[in-house]
Amino acid sequence: MLESLRKIVQEVSSARAVDDALELIVSRVRAEMQTDVCSVYLLDKPSGRYVFMATEGLNKSAQGKISLAKDQGLVGQVVQRAEPINLENAQSNAAFKLLPDIGEEPFNAFLGTPIIYHREILGVLVVQQSELRKFDEIEESFLITIAAQLAGVIAHAQATGAIKSNDSSSRIKHDVQYKGVSGSNGIAIGRAMLITPILDFNTIPDKKCNDSIAEIHFFDECVRCVIADIKQLKVKFSERVNQEELLLFDVYLAMLGKQGLGEEVRQIIHEKLQSAQSALRDVVIAHLNQFNLMEDAYLRERAIDVKDLGLRILSYLQDIHPRSRQYDGPIILVGDELSPSMLAEVPKDKLKGLVSIKGSSHSHVAILARSMNIPTLSGVTGLPIQVVDGLPMIVDGYEELVIANVSDHLVTRYERFSAEEKLSDLGLEQLKYVPSETLDGVHLPLYVNTGLMADMLLGKEKGAEGVGLYRTEIPFLMSERFPSEEEQRVIYEEQLSCFHPLPVTMRTLDIGGDKSLPYFPIEEENPALGWRGIRVTLDHPEIFLVQIRAMLRANAEYGNLRILLPMISRLDEFEEAKQLIVRAHHELLSQGVKLPMPEVGVMIEVPSVIYQLEALAKRADFLSVGSNDLTQYLLAVDRNNSHVSKLYNYYHPAVIRALYDIAQRLKSMGKPFSICGELAGDPAAAVLLLAMGFESLSMSASRLLKVKSMIRFVDMAKAKNMLESVLRLDNSQDIKDYLQRNLSDVGVSPLFKGQSGSAQKPLDS
Ligand code: PEP
Ligand code: MG
Repeated sequence: MLESLRKIVQEVSSARAVDDALELIVSRVRAEMQTDVCSVYLLDKPSGRYVFMATEGLNKSAQGKISLAKDQGLVGQVVQRAEPINLENAQSNAAFKLLPDIGEEPFNAFLGTPIIYHREILGVLVVQQSELRKFDEIEESFLITIAAQLAGVIAHAQATGAIKSNDSSSRIKHDVQYKGVSGSNGIAIGRAMLITPILDFNTIPDKKCNDSIAEIHFFDECVRCVIADIKQLKVKFSERVNQEELLLFDVYLAMLGKQGLGEEVRQIIHEKLQSAQSALRDVVIAHLNQFNLMEDAYLRERAIDVKDLGLRILSYLQDIHPRSRQYDGPIILVGDELSPSMLAEVPKDKLKGLVSIKGSSHSHVAILARSMNIPTLSGVTGLPIQVVDGLPMIVDGYEELVIANVSDHLVTRYERFSAEEKLSDLGLEQLKYVPSETLDGVHLPLYVNTGLMADMLLGKEKGAEGVGLYRTEIPFLMSERFPSEEEQRVIYEEQLSCFHPLPVTMRTLDIGGDKSLPYFPIEEENPALGWRGIRVTLDHPEIFLVQIRAMLRANAEYGNLRILLPMISRLDEFEEAKQLIVRAHHELLSQGVKLPMPEVGVMIEVPSVIYQLEALAKRADFLSVGSNDLTQYLLAVDRNNSHVSKLYNYYHPAVIRALYDIAQRLKSMGKPFSICGELAGDPAAAVLLLAMGFESLSMSASRLLKVKSMIRFVDMAKAKNMLESVLRLDNSQDIKDYLQRNLSDVGVSPLFKGQSGSAQKPLDS
């Protein structure tokens, strides 16, 4: 049974169109269960009705034409109960509704099970038989299993428009919200522009060529054209992003270089006498399949790059050039997957936001969008992209929502919110020059988290008092190989000189988990608990020592470097890393280079070290809490898993309590300690962290002035009072409500997930 289940799911997932997939489901399930009938009803969201979409055994001509409300018939019962209904004689059941023309009259036995995705009932899968009998337990669990597995496939197909509504005139309702993952914050208001590749590898037929040498020559010509295009794109982007971010295009060029995709294609043309188009198709599809099987989110993202390059070559092979489009008004680019080159097609002043069904916050598009400050949402579940083209749309990067077919009323509210936010940002600008100090004069230094060059420049501009966390893996992510010691030294020196004499805390390479390098893939069953951060670099001292030497040499002239070690879960990891740092320092000194030994600190982000704080504080020069990972590990919720993202909440009482305990114990140790996760950039949380005794907060540049404005509105007595009350509350919603109530009277409303100062949130009513 397991084998046939697997086969059905595999076949359905690889069906080209969803109509084919539904056909496959009903015919395979009927055959496997040896029933007379199998049918699928799917929810048509605009009408809220369950449409009879596919059948094997009933009247096929009724497909797509008949539907039931969610309280009608046995199908409606399945929907309402959200569990299977198994009846020996369906027709005698009070809920049974005989639909005209469907041909159900001869059938008695009925088993229907809901198709549920993320708690939403997408449809109902039904089997029927003329025999008067109840389906047995095994049959019931088979149907439940298949429905559960098909739910994801159906949800994705619906989102990309492969399943169309039965009423073609129906559009999505006003103000429907879809969840995604924010890659770049902010609010974008505009019209959706759907961008789809005009070419499709699946439609390229097998074709032979007569003259492989001429074919390879033609292919090489086309690759040269694409290389020229990419170089042009790089020039186009150079006005919009910084030098470091432009490195992405070098990765593309390398993929097109001698050892890249082209070599494999040439080999197939040469050996199999295939046409360049079909050889390219085979190579690209093989790579896509490989990438798609990978556990690692970053590597899966690279599939988009390969496909994009492949399609570019294909367009030259077919001599098809993208149709030029009119770009009127503010545009939100929407696609199943977006590539950097798609961004470049829209004029800079028109492009306001980005939305994609696939992708994650680590995609190249998200990295570029952050650098260009364009609100971006990826991994948006359920958005029917085929019907949104041209509709008014809002990307709310703060609440991680896309709102499709937005009503004028909501647009007005968002416009007002954006205007207020801009105004309050303008108002906040004056805070750049005043100290981050409470009403009673307690100074709480605010540092910036950097990675991209843009973060560093913005942090400096907003008056950060130093860098609390430089994520060194970001420049590594944008390179095509490990950057050399000298290349790293140059990048690090930029950070140190930009902030000198203020401190710059550089974290050693934190790869693994959700961040792995294309040229150093880490594939694991359970990456968050696997080979990441210090575990990787201790196993590879050659990589670690190069990085440390680059940092120390960059610091020779400035002396403001602090080194921070990520993912420490044991004391000996700290000791080993410290020894390597001391060794690198000695070696450089012995070569006659005069350099100071920097302070070495530790990130508190794995729960085990909470119980070894004292021992760690004795050894480290400073400590910095990584609340993002600490929340993930305390709550056992993967930060990047959309199935559980709702459970990821740093206002969980356990997280607040842990932070309080950490601060209490570190205060008595006399070692500096700070915090650098997202929580530190939330003004309401900042008040609690201040009261707990954190000595500095480090956050993304866009949060600095908002947090500062909050700090300047409270005094220590009020902050401590609030902390005491919060520690007595036992669920996160109560904590948020309490903060909301108690901070609104200080003139700056608390911000949950990034909302701006005084503006009322548009979705609050
Ligand atoms: C953290 O875990 O809180 C942190 C700052 O590190 P990162 O988000 O880069 O894992
Ligand atoms: Mg971390």
